[in-house]
Amino acid sequence: MKELFKLSANVVSDKIRNGEFTAEEYVSVIVDRINKVDKHINSFITKNFEYAIERAREIDKKIRGGEKTGILAGVPIGVKDNICVKGLKNTCASKMLSEYISPYNATVIEQIEKQDGIIIGKLNMDEFGMGSTSEFSAYGPVRNPWNTQFVAGGSSGGSAASVSSLQIPISLGSDTGGSIRCPASFCSVVGLKPTYGSVSRSGLVSYSNSLEQIGPITRTIFDIVPIFNTISGEDAKDNTTYTRNDPCKIKSDQELQKISLKVALLSELIDSSDFQIASGIQEKINFLKKHHYHLEEVKLSILDYAVAAYYIIATAEASSNLSRFDNLRYGYYSNPEGYEWKSYFSKARSMFGDEVKRRILLGSYVLSAGYFGKYYQKAQLVRSLIRQEFLNLFTKFDIILLPTMPVLPFRLGEKLSNPVDLYNLDLFTIIANLTGLPAISIPAGFSKEGLPYGVQLIANAFEEQKLIDLACLFEKAFDYRECYPCL
Ligand code: GLN
Repeated sequence: MKELFKLSANVVSDKIRNGEFTAEEYVSVIVDRINKVDKHINSFITKNFEYAIERAREIDKKIRGGEKTGILAGVPIGVKDNICVKGLKNTCASKMLSEYISPYNATVIEQIEKQDGIIIGKLNMDEFGMGSTSEFSAYGPVRNPWNTQFVAGGSSGGSAASVSSLQIPISLGSDTGGSIRCPASFCSVVGLKPTYGSVSRSGLVSYSNSLEQIGPITRTIFDIVPIFNTISGEDAKDNTTYTRNDPCKIKSDQELQKISLKVALLSELIDSSDFQIASGIQEKINFLKKHHYHLEEVKLSILDYAVAAYYIIATAEASSNLSRFDNLRYGYYSNPEGYEWKSYFSKARSMFGDEVKRRILLGSYVLSAGYFGKYYQKAQLVRSLIRQEFLNLFTKFDIILLPTMPVLPFRLGEKLSNPVDLYNLDLFTIIANLTGLPAISIPAGFSKEGLPYGVQLIANAFEEQKLIDLACLFEKAFDYRECYPCL
């Protein structure tokens, strides 16, 4: 019973269904594991253990009674703390929402519960999803399981670190500019940012709603498929969602051998990465060459403007989205007596952390009269040019390959003094958000210091299956699933 926490979700739900162990036994092992490990990692903000055990018993009862169970039967799932779960705190890692309890479930939570997945807790993150390290949290930074002196990546750092440290097999994150893929790369797990419109955002606290998607983080590509199939599809509560006709699947070895995808290599970005990452990516490219994939180096002309365009659009949307935290509609509660309106309002707004304040100021500035045309409209133009370049590429290629992040994980605190340095690290991930395209980060190796990095694949809209096929091929050829951090 002891090492059950090492199993992947698909194996766990099969074993629970076959009666090898019960959901209650498994969830109890997971609860012990979280209690033992998370004090070193700080990935959980809220633990939902009592409910999880109770829910596991219900699932066991269903199985004993011969009832059909869902594809996530008995699998504990952690949820980033900006996705609403009824009855649980939804803090967005902010003091502003430290007492806020969600009165309803996000659509993705309803879908998970329908498939008998078990919500085991809420996970730490950068405040409101703003950051790349998970250090901007009112609950303290998330630590990287591979070296707890290093950052876990962000903003879904708790989602990646909890999976990587074998606390839970699946988590949900949100990705506005890389927040699923960056921590997936830093923690050596698989993270999928689905096509914009694939997954309902109903119940996700918006940071920048035209860019973001909820997506899964797992240790193996085999577990991405059931969770992605569960949460994707049309939702009446989010009118940007589409119906998907074919669910994704894991193909057999024979089927995979027959696939030959055309892959575009963003060589400029590969070469500008840390040399250990660049050589690890080259190893993957050589593998594809050996398998007779059609590979071609490509260059994108407009990339120089991508980070600026992203930060203008994201902060503009954030300044509008975060205006609801005004202590009237949502937000920090303080006794209004003795305050006149302005000081009451400013007291409430001062509950935001510095990074969130910075983004609200920047966003209000680029939207203000006189600067709207100078910054915001230009950023939108750059966004459509980037999208056009990508769509042109996808007339010739199936997949674009590049590193997930240009750097290895770095020490906690190392990059806090210069926000722009951190923003620039987002270049490789934001392109999928600006274009709405699906992208995945999968483990690609470790530096000589034992720090992980990922390779990123981007496909055309709604072609997640191609990402899964290539990720599967890589996972079989370069298997990092048996590498565990020592915790
Ligand atoms: N690092 C990016 C930002 O701070 C991405 C964040 C995200 O994807 N939520 O905006």
